Amino acid sequence: MYALCDVNSMYASCEKVFDPTIRNKPVVVLTNNDGCICAACNIAKRAGIGKKFVPYFQVKQELEKAGAVIKSSNYELYADLSQRMMETCTRFAPYSHIYSIDECFLFYGKGAYKPPEGWFEHARSIRRTVWREVRLPIGVGMGLTPTLAKAANHAAKRLDGFRGVAVIETEQERKSILKQMAVSDVWGIGRRISKRLNDIGIHSALDLANARADSMRKMFSVLIADTVLELNGHARISWDDVRSPKKQIFSTRSFGQRVTEKQVLRQAIATHAAIIARKLRKQDSLAVCVMVFAHSSIHAKEPYYRKAMVCEFSAPTNDTRVITKAMCSQIDAIYAEGVRFYKCGVGALELIDTSHYQPDMFVASQDNKALMGCLDFINNKYGRNTMYLAAQGIEQKFAMRRAFLSPQYTTRLADLPKIYCNDV
Ligand SMILES: [Mg+2]
Repeated sequence: MYALCDVNSMYASCEKVFDPTIRNKPVVVLTNNDGCICAACNIAKRAGIGKKFVPYFQVKQELEKAGAVIKSSNYELYADLSQRMMETCTRFAPYSHIYSIDECFLFYGKGAYKPPEGWFEHARSIRRTVWREVRLPIGVGMGLTPTLAKAANHAAKRLDGFRGVAVIETEQERKSILKQMAVSDVWGIGRRISKRLNDIGIHSALDLANARADSMRKMFSVLIADTVLELNGHARISWDDVRSPKKQIFSTRSFGQRVTEKQVLRQAIATHAAIIARKLRKQDSLAVCVMVFAHSSIHAKEPYYRKAMVCEFSAPTNDTRVITKAMCSQIDAIYAEGVRFYKCGVGALELIDTSHYQPDMFVASQDNKALMGCLDFINNKYGRNTMYLAAQGIEQKFAMRRAFLSPQYTTRLADLPKIYCNDV
């Protein structure tokens, strides 16, 4: 079973945590430099204000009239509350994966395990506990695959009668929820593809689930075929290649074995920074604000430790060197002696399109486009880690635990089988 926990209007909800006087007011959060609207709470949305990505100056008066509370984005606060929310959620399951600043997947294993109170009550208690401990409202969706958990989460928040919790356990529940969802609301189905799907008569999520996976592969892609299988309860998506949301990019991973050395932690952070930068360039985005975090295991006996830091760039960037340098400079704040680190990660919280970026006359960008183009070209041609920053380390002690890995006979020179011939 999978669960997806997702905070309702994360940034606006964070603003309400320590200020109960604005809990019942429409709250709107602005992006860096108070340029555009980046989040609005449900009350604001219901009042029809706080549309995302609208420039603030255009709607200033309208917001004033509606009595909206305006907040500049406070990423330090959001990053910290995000960590707390994740900490609470991950206590509930043996496996977890942070997907974005306000979403995490929980995984309960492939077996027939079921909590004694049942999945629905379990999901409700996750939601209640997060509210009690962090004062953030979340939606919890559960299903047999990540895509179904996402669908259940959608139902929990948007469909009538769910009130924040939905579980897809039976065939009847699966069909009834998918039937009420537009195909464009399915995880990983973008606007362009849903248009093409509409053209061939696929309108609801259930229509897509009932399509044939092999013909979807031929007409669209393996990803869409996998989505069809996932909607039918066959898990196809693994943590390492889950699609990242476009407005945020996260790279996180647990260590193969606990990390206690500062040097090793720094190398792992540099590796995540490089992944983020590569993904930013791939989708033509620049990062305005990036967070780095590390924590020990919540399931360990020793006291839990976690730390997150946020860096804002006055010149938005997607240069591996700039992001790596900024992240690694936080190492003294993140690292603590004696802590057995279990996981770390880097997340770009605020992105802008490369094409929409207006350079600042007084802040020169450090980015070297040609150099990054060269790096990407070489790594695309010869394999992902052909060229990388030395900051990532040569040995990568933090890498996946693969103690029982067989040699890479066909792809790694050092692993070529050796044959010894004796003269007789
Ligand atoms: Mg959310």
